[in-house]
Amino acid sequence: MLGTGTPRPDPNRSGPATAIVVNGTPYLIDFGPGVIRRATAAYENGVTALGFGGINIKTAFLTHLHSDHTLGYPDLIFTPWVMGRQTPLDVYGPKGLKEMTENVLKAWQIDTEARINGINQHNSTGCKVNAREISTGVAYKDDNVTVVAFAVRHEEMIDAFGYRFEAPGRTIVISGDTAPAQTIVDHGRGCDVLIHEAYSMATYHQVSSRSQRFRRHHHTSSVELAEIANTVRPGLLVIYHRSNAGGGHRARTGKTFCSRRSGGTTAAPSSPLTIWTCSDRRRRRGAAWTIGRLSARSPSILAGVNQRLETAVSP
Ligand SMILES: [Zn+2]
Ligand SMILES: [Zn+2]
Repeated sequence: MLGTGTPRPDPNRSGPATAIVVNGTPYLIDFGPGVIRRATAAYENGVTALGFGGINIKTAFLTHLHSDHTLGYPDLIFTPWVMGRQTPLDVYGPKGLKEMTENVLKAWQIDTEARINGINQHNSTGCKVNAREISTGVAYKDDNVTVVAFAVRHEEMIDAFGYRFEAPGRTIVISGDTAPAQTIVDHGRGCDVLIHEAYSMATYHQVSSRSQRFRRHHHTSSVELAEIANTVRPGLLVIYHRSNAGGGHRARTGKTFCSRRSGGTTAAPSSPLTIWTCSDRRRRRGAAWTIGRLSARSPSILAGVNQRLETAVSP
């Protein structure tokens, strides 16, 4: 988890960016602000497949065009190139990706030409981008992975995808930004890892009615995610993109809230489930930026999701 944040500029959480490494090849999903610095931090903590400066990231997938997921686009295009990437970047995503790509390349044209023609004589290929606008279904396939795109519910962004990565012996599903969607259940059922966004109910009750409405139409509450997790039964549930609009500090006071709301609305899991919630705060060398790990034995997934969401915002 390179970045797990939201539009809120939380100093401890960079913009959404996730890397999946298969047989030493990295695949990036989303490129929020800070993506290449986070990739470099991961590299320096042992995820060497990314390469220094993200130089080995050559294939990326975009869930949707919201700014928190795309503000790192020029960083992804140009920083690894300046660090020495020779090959063009392949990017897959929704309608509008091509135009965004053309505009980003144009915006940095003076820089690009200066670096190519200047003293350093940078190569002229590594700053190119093959942007491909996709629809649902198989978006990408190589010897390592098959990547399936599926539609999610992110109302004002009509074209929004989740992705299912199928690799030998491991299936990973990432939600992108979405309200509860049947497609998550359909594509996530029985997966090894489900990476899903969520907001906590504690913060939901702290925000304006307009923001509450926005959340209901664009994001998934901890209660809803618990229901999804109960159906999908992933081997590992990773919660990211935790909204805390309404005040990160105020959210820190909400610890007791979810224990009140969590009682008895979902069944206890019959099989072990591990839940991670994520921040960029590094707790373990070389590991994902996890803040904690909930064991499988919690009374219900719902309680577990809520507790982790609440304790995750504690210092
Ligand atoms: Zn977002
Ligand atoms: Zn979004």
